[in-house]
Amino acid sequence: MSELQIDKIGLKVGLEIHQQLATDRKLFCSCMPTESEEYPIKFFRKLRVAKSELGEYDPTAVFERSKAKTIIYYSNPASSCLVEQDDEPPHEVNRNAKEIVLLIASSLKSSIFSEIHVMRKLVIDGSNTSGFQRTMLVAQGGYLDVDGKKIGVQSICLEEDAARLLSDTVETREYSLDRLGIPLVEIALEPVSGKPTEIKKIALTLGRLLRATKKVERGLGSIRQDVNISIEGGNIIEVKGVQKLDQLEKVIEYEAKRQHGLMIIADRLKKMEIDRIAKERDVKDVTEIFKNCKSKIIQKALKEGAVVRAIRIKKFSGMFGFEPYEGIGLGKQLAEVVRFFGLGGVFHSDELPNYGIEDVEIQGIKNTLELEQKDGFLLLAGDLQKINVVVESIIKRIEDAKTGVPAETRAATATGETIYLRPRPGASRMYPETDIPPLTVTKEELADIQKMVPKSWVETLSDLQMTYQLNAQLAEQIFDSSYLDLFERICHDKRISPNFVASVLCGTITNLERRGLDSRLLKPVEILNAFQFLAEGKIAKESLEIIFEKMMAGKANSVVESIEKAAINKMDVTELDKMLDDLIAENLKIIQEQGTRSIGPLMGIAMQTMRGKVDGQRINQLLERKIKEKIDSKK
Ligand SMILES: [Zn+2]
Repeated sequence: MSELQIDKIGLKVGLEIHQQLATDRKLFCSCMPTESEEYPIKFFRKLRVAKSELGEYDPTAVFERSKAKTIIYYSNPASSCLVEQDDEPPHEVNRNAKEIVLLIASSLKSSIFSEIHVMRKLVIDGSNTSGFQRTMLVAQGGYLDVDGKKIGVQSICLEEDAARLLSDTVETREYSLDRLGIPLVEIALEPVSGKPTEIKKIALTLGRLLRATKKVERGLGSIRQDVNISIEGGNIIEVKGVQKLDQLEKVIEYEAKRQHGLMIIADRLKKMEIDRIAKERDVKDVTEIFKNCKSKIIQKALKEGAVVRAIRIKKFSGMFGFEPYEGIGLGKQLAEVVRFFGLGGVFHSDELPNYGIEDVEIQGIKNTLELEQKDGFLLLAGDLQKINVVVESIIKRIEDAKTGVPAETRAATATGETIYLRPRPGASRMYPETDIPPLTVTKEELADIQKMVPKSWVETLSDLQMTYQLNAQLAEQIFDSSYLDLFERICHDKRISPNFVASVLCGTITNLERRGLDSRLLKPVEILNAFQFLAEGKIAKESLEIIFEKMMAGKANSVVESIEKAAINKMDVTELDKMLDDLIAENLKIIQEQGTRSIGPLMGIAMQTMRGKVDGQRINQLLERKIKEKIDSKK
């Protein structure tokens, strides 16, 4: 195994950013773009193969159809209507959304079309009830300035967001309709070569340009990136669903390693001069051999009526387990393909005996397949209807390994790796939407938009610094966070220090997140309430963390409930005075021994009972004064 030299493999990355727009209604109806938690309406669809109106079947659609899933949609009338259910044609395009996209296109100096046509883009995963996503090409060209370097813009589209995936199993896939139809801008950048950190910088800069408009949604899930990644001599791999910048960097690193690893494997395969990987006579039914095996996976499959197949791959001994880079090998790629069809997995000869499969079964396979010493084999179990398609698919995948990186669509995982999603879609994916007339963009409209183009994010940052007297780092943190709007709203109340607000929003909440708590449970309105309580003197500064902690842990739904549960109450002055006097009386010995330094231990004792009820600084002041008085009175 060697170290990948990422700058020597011709790495190219094209970013495609999807950003939700901040509008009060969806793109084609008047529904509010809010997240629902309850779904009174539930309905089913079978995935259908949509025949494109241009007359060609989409290969991806046919492929997905072979998985034959039932789709279940959940809907709440507060966030979706008959349009999302595909029981009513789309309404007129949301003008506000159109305006925001024009503004973004102007910010990127992109050429805006005078006529915008609504198109249908075929989707086959069930994420849209209609079977297609509506999209409008708004502008082409332009550039993003990243530290003085111009990164070209390919296209800017206005489109509807897809339904939100709730669960995905072999038989069913569940979606919520609340996200379906939320206006999105899709910005595709020209592919660039560079290191993953440089690509991350591009994504960060584009995100900041969008946020500087103050007309886009913030928070996890509101911005998603699809990334096209290739290396020299390989196909382009589309990776979907990157949500965070750190994840983006890892995904690019992982793909670079995976793709280069596959090229190394291809080189080795070419030298082996295998004409065809496997023919029909290389596939044998070995169900009988496994009747009494100890493998739990195979026994489980057999109980469900599965058959077991073994495939002979000539000269392949050692090839499945060969990993040019750690964790990058053919075995893993094949396992991904098999899992795509809903099968538990595939065993290869380089990893056996293992997993409860013993020498006796392996000998049986060797005899049945008439294996020679250099030959390898694959073993998999599945139901009779599916298994032939799966066998064909993995043979094709090994066949493809000779050319290196097969074109496919992959999904980003939360840990920054990628997994196989489906073959790369064909070209016939777009056709015109007949329900909605084209939109026009007039010269006057464009001139008006030009006047609204926001300041660059650099200027916005210095504005933030000036207005709220923040240091550069805190200003940048609050600008990049999901809380800029909230920050500005909280700071309307002049009783609260902007520095304190920023440090709570960017520091306290992030720290709680690092401890594994969920910031999504902390609703903006409740954060606002908490600061309101603080401004009115109902709680102490220290209470905020306790209140947020309760909510982020799911133990309370509101500030009021948090306060009750944590028994936080603002102590009145006389009560505090008495408590501190008692404290001093009980700890006279410490004061006698340590003098003014006794403030340390006494403060510790005081905070045990008063944390969150009284401002720590205030306790400190009072306590210091009282200790001094005590010492002076003894003199
Ligand atoms: Zn609706």
